[in-house]
Amino acid sequence: MTHERATAGVNLAAIGRNVERAKARAGPEVAICAVVKGDGYGHGAAPVASAALAAGATRLAVSTAAEAADLRRAGIVAPILVMGPLSEAELELAVASRAEVVAWHRELVEQLTRRDAGTGTTGVHLHVDVGMGNVGLRDVGQARALASEITAKSGVTVAGVMTQLPDAGDPDDPSLEDRLRRFSELAGALREIEPGLIAHAENSPVLIRSPRARFDMVRVGDLLYGFDPFGADPAPHHLEPALTLTSRVASIRRLRPGDTAGYGGRFAAETATRIAVVPVGYGDGLRRCTRGAHVLVGGRRRAVVGAVAMDSLMVDLGDDGSARIGDPVVLIGRQGAERITAEELAGTMGAVNAELTCGLTARVRRVYHRDGERSA
Ligand SMILES: *Cc1c(COP(=O)(O)O)cnc(C)c1O
Repeated sequence: MTHERATAGVNLAAIGRNVERAKARAGPEVAICAVVKGDGYGHGAAPVASAALAAGATRLAVSTAAEAADLRRAGIVAPILVMGPLSEAELELAVASRAEVVAWHRELVEQLTRRDAGTGTTGVHLHVDVGMGNVGLRDVGQARALASEITAKSGVTVAGVMTQLPDAGDPDDPSLEDRLRRFSELAGALREIEPGLIAHAENSPVLIRSPRARFDMVRVGDLLYGFDPFGADPAPHHLEPALTLTSRVASIRRLRPGDTAGYGGRFAAETATRIAVVPVGYGDGLRRCTRGAHVLVGGRRRAVVGAVAMDSLMVDLGDDGSARIGDPVVLIGRQGAERITAEELAGTMGAVNAELTCGLTARVRRVYHRDGERSA
């Protein structure tokens, strides 16, 4: 792979294998919905969606209507669910993009039915609340009333019932088991009104903690990208990170003891050392303040020193005189026997994995490949 100033390599074959792993974990009867919001967690929504669908995912989910429209423009025909709240204009765009939408109140249903008939039928997924407390219908009666209202109207249908489960249990909260049971009851009650609906609740952390998926579909984001939903190491969960972040050595400077480097002389050499300038910085999505970050140069871990600048960072090469200008530098990925995960780099920035990759700017070129072979 070429090393421009900063490149994000995205291995679509790894995405495919992660879909297969999610499928094996969920069980043969359970559909995989690939969550590609936030431009596919920064990996690129359309290429990730295509790779996930080719590997057995059958549905896609995004957060906004514009994200659904972008996928349609990219030629993707699979069902798309827009999960976020929608303004009236956004609802129009979602419907025009032949996406399904999520509802937890009557307004959206009214907006949908106020539209001209003859624009096809829009599938609505009812969002029920089993304790997250953010959005959702809270009781069976309310949910049944809305479902009945929808089924009585034309141009709109109940396509699913969903909930969002919290990642980590608050000790005062009912347990995950209680929430799943509650969701199951709500889904059962709605299925009496619309037998064909799909029930879905589990996301990556819940699927990882459960031996099997329990409903008709799982919505997976982290698992798709090979991220550890708990922010640690994805390897023990048999997940394969799809994204690498690489740069190169742009210049090397020798420092004598006491020499300083970086803005404001934030780094002072204690012994004679070599400092490499690597042309990737917070303008590419890193953070000015990183604590204890490392990169890989020549197959070895090297400390990032001083503050990260907008366009570059500095790496202490120690007394190793073998590094050369142009040498590849790995910020996320493997080099030799060493490995740096997105979780590790994100941790040094006070962020989580997806927060880091969502924040990679347009200046970082995305290069798509399948196990090293470039794809279009
Ligand atoms: C983002 C999102 C997901 C995916 O979550 P992961 O933990 O990344 O698998 C699932 N459901 C909803 C409603 C989401 O917003």
